[in-house]
Amino acid sequence: MQARSYQMALLLGKCPRCREGDIFTHPIRRISKFNVMNKSCPFCSAMLEPEPGFYQGAMYVGYGITIAVLILISLILYSLGNPSEWVYISVTIGVMIILAPLNYRYSRILYLYMFGGIKYNPHLSQPK
Ligand SMILES: [Zn+2]
Repeated sequence: MQARSYQMALLLGKCPRCREGDIFTHPIRRISKFNVMNKSCPFCSAMLEPEPGFYQGAMYVGYGITIAVLILISLILYSLGNPSEWVYISVTIGVMIILAPLNYRYSRILYLYMFGGIKYNPHLSQPK
């Protein structure tokens, strides 16, 4: 079994230490529980919340994602013929509501990978 890459583990929401265990308890299609996280990795038992209130900083990552999406939507709408400002506002709000669960998850995953202080251990992801 080949070890999962850093990028693929991040994209799939896997534990940064073993790259096998899920950070979130349910798949994102279970919209009522999209925000429920595992306290520790179900595969290697790494603490996925390093300290109380750790994920408060993830809102800055979420803000950055929101701004990036907003700029992207604006550029797409502008290239489609520069509609009125109400089209910009309504399309942006609609897209951000639809993407809110993704934004929530990836802001936490990115924050954990950047500031969680959890180092990858390739021996944990190998079959025993
Ligand atoms: Zn793990």
